[in-house]
Amino acid sequence: MVNQEINSLNENIKVALHYAERIIATIRVPLLVLDKDFNIKSANKIFYKTFSVNEGQIAGQNIFQLSNGQWDFPELRDLLQNLLPLKTKILDLEITSNFSLLGKKVLLINANEIINKLSNEKLILLAIEDVTERRLLKEKESEIQDVFTNMVIQAPFAMMVMRGFDHIIDVINEPALKLIGKSSADLVNKPIADSIPKIKSSGYINILDKVFIEGERYVATEQRFVLPHLGAKEVRYLSLVFDPFKNKEGVITGVIAVCNDVTTQVIAHKKMEENEMRFHLIADFMPEKIWTADAEGNKNYFNNRYLNFTGLPFADLKNWGWKQLIHPEDWPENEILWRASISSGEDYENMLRIRNAEGEYKWHMSRATALLDEAGHIQMWIGTKTEIQSVKEEEEKRANFIKMVSHELKTPVTSIKGYVQLLQLIIDSHPQTSLPETFTNSLERISDLINRQTRLINEMLDLSRLDSGQLEFHSTEINMLNLVTEVIEDLRLTNPKHKINFVGNKLCKVNGDKNQLEQVLVNLIGNAIKYSAEGTDVLVTVAMQDQNKVKVSVKDQGIGIDKKDQENIFDRFYRVSGKNEQTYPGFGIGLYISKETVTRHGGSFSLESEKNVGSTFSFTLPCA
Ligand code: ADP
Repeated sequence: MVNQEINSLNENIKVALHYAERIIATIRVPLLVLDKDFNIKSANKIFYKTFSVNEGQIAGQNIFQLSNGQWDFPELRDLLQNLLPLKTKILDLEITSNFSLLGKKVLLINANEIINKLSNEKLILLAIEDVTERRLLKEKESEIQDVFTNMVIQAPFAMMVMRGFDHIIDVINEPALKLIGKSSADLVNKPIADSIPKIKSSGYINILDKVFIEGERYVATEQRFVLPHLGAKEVRYLSLVFDPFKNKEGVITGVIAVCNDVTTQVIAHKKMEENEMRFHLIADFMPEKIWTADAEGNKNYFNNRYLNFTGLPFADLKNWGWKQLIHPEDWPENEILWRASISSGEDYENMLRIRNAEGEYKWHMSRATALLDEAGHIQMWIGTKTEIQSVKEEEEKRANFIKMVSHELKTPVTSIKGYVQLLQLIIDSHPQTSLPETFTNSLERISDLINRQTRLINEMLDLSRLDSGQLEFHSTEINMLNLVTEVIEDLRLTNPKHKINFVGNKLCKVNGDKNQLEQVLVNLIGNAIKYSAEGTDVLVTVAMQDQNKVKVSVKDQGIGIDKKDQENIFDRFYRVSGKNEQTYPGFGIGLYISKETVTRHGGSFSLESEKNVGSTFSFTLPCA
């Protein structure tokens, strides 16, 4: 009976032991059982696997000598030594060590006393958890957290991170503290509404709540705030962005606030608006029609004078609407000029007719200039339109008057010229009749003066014809060499005191109006004679240029033209104003007409001149 009981007891113990071993084996944490001297009594499978050892290598070994003392950590030794005598426990002891085979490991150690009820032996159960990966992950997470925190701290604009429903300030950077006017001790780890009560009264707390709950970004620009600044309160303009802050799982855990102080920009903007208003106020009082346009030429302002004149509202005139008011005949040229200015940034100037509210076209002088920024880019255009209708009418009257006078003068002058020629013929045909020298000299002088008079009258007539578009153009094929020779021969007869030389050979022909081109030659050679001293030479050259152009040059040794005048002498009525120059008769229109004529023939003019040395006037014409 006793034997039977002992057998069944043994059997029970065996089952219990097996049961305990099975439990230990299935536990996923490496376990060691030590005796009171810290010798290893047993270990579970996961221990062998984790630390790459087998039962034979460790059974009976002292833990502190195990693997060449790699487990001999002073903290562990202290704790283990107290464990049995003082009945203490080891709870979550973290040890980091470099294992020769396994490398760096972070271990979490827990230990407890266990008693072998059979032998009454006190043992130590050591659970050694490998938390290396968990620790690394945590380190990485905190590294990321650090980077993020640093980003916030170092951001050049105000930034803070709030967590939770109460918007507890987690991180706040220096610019944000400066803006709020509080220290980080006042704010960090406290709900924002507690340390900045205004957040509540201004309604921003509701916005923060909304961002936190609904997860939608909030953006507000140029918000007005009264904030502490340099010891006083000041109006500042801020642009705000509140963004929901989510954790790894995508759950909103807080709000990030970014804030930009845009006070300087807003003030500059307001100042610009003020200036603009002031400009409009002044412009509305001006008698001129004033407009402005953006860099692309889109009109964005017309002063009252402009609107009243056209009788149209701004909406109808803006952008390209204003062009409907320009006379259709004036638009094509105006468009070319305006577009050229827009792309080059050069000033624009043009005369054109604009329709008024009554539907009548009035002549205007239209001007515009570009305002550039520091980098030289066009910022805007400002333009004026000045009515010149009365000036135009006056000009027309004057032109008509000149035309009429020239006509009236031409008839008697032509008659006088005829009578003088008749008298000269009579004298020539009666060589035996001796006349006083003063008589023949006077007759020659009269003939000279009449020629000059005729030339001036012709110039005046040509000018008025040119202005009124009545200068007719009779195109024929012209041999330039012949034409130049003919003109020179004529001029030699009437100007015996100058030597007119000629250089030229067989050349191409040109298409053009013979009379008009002849006039150009007479004018250039005539000027060369007029503006140089008696006895000096004039050289006329005719030569080919670029194989398809003929170039005529007239060179004199006369008074020359100053650099500053060279650009202007082709303008109508322009005469060089020097003491010397005043002594020569003329109207200042010969060169103007000559240049117009050459241009109408598809050619171009050039001038080289040096004061007191001489001038060379040249023009080229395309070959026929
Ligand atoms: P003008 O009838 O006054 O000669 P032009 O139109 O022919 O008018 O010439 C304009 C001005 O150019 C002249 O007044 C004169 O000052 C200057 N000019 C023209 N040709 C010459 C020249 N060959 N030498 C010096 N000055 C000249």
